Amino acid sequence: MTLRKIATIGHPVLRTLARELTRDELATPTMQAFLDDLVETMRDANGAGLAANQIHAPIRVCAIEQKKNPRYPEKPEFPLTILVNPVIEPLSDETFLNYEGCLSVPDLRGEAERFLEIRVHAWDRDGAPWEREIRGLTAGTFQHEIDHLDGKLFLDRVKDTRSLCTWKEFERWHVAGFTLRAKELVARWGA
Ligand code: ZN
Repeated sequence: MTLRKIATIGHPVLRTLARELTRDELATPTMQAFLDDLVETMRDANGAGLAANQIHAPIRVCAIEQKKNPRYPEKPEFPLTILVNPVIEPLSDETFLNYEGCLSVPDLRGEAERFLEIRVHAWDRDGAPWEREIRGLTAGTFQHEIDHLDGKLFLDRVKDTRSLCTWKEFERWHVAGFTLRAKELVARWGA
């Protein structure tokens, strides 16, 4: 496995619409090795997710994994999931403000507006259909990663730019309020 370089804001690959994969492409040893690199790079950087174009490959694949994470202690746990050609279906119009950060946007966080409840349709790494209803903070993570595949960054979803802050000032001024709201969301579904 190889750790890949993560593109940062300003690199055009982050603004590229990633293309869909075929099942034949997905099955190749090269693509399977790429998926291992994606996961390895995400874990090495303590990311809760990583999209393929963040490591310079504009294809519709992303990885998500939420476990005890020093970057995001408020996030509930979610097992390692690789999504291929994912599509989001909002389950209601209800939204919430998710204080997000991104490995491609160093040292910045801000409140992005996200759907509270979504259904995600995708394939797993073997090309088998994968479908799940996802809610709350985890739904925020899924929307963040799938946005990357459309060339969007969380900054594009920040309605109030006054919420933007460095990680240091987030810890100092905003973590308490957001953690409280996050706990309420997590409690709503008991997960
Ligand atoms: Zn990101």
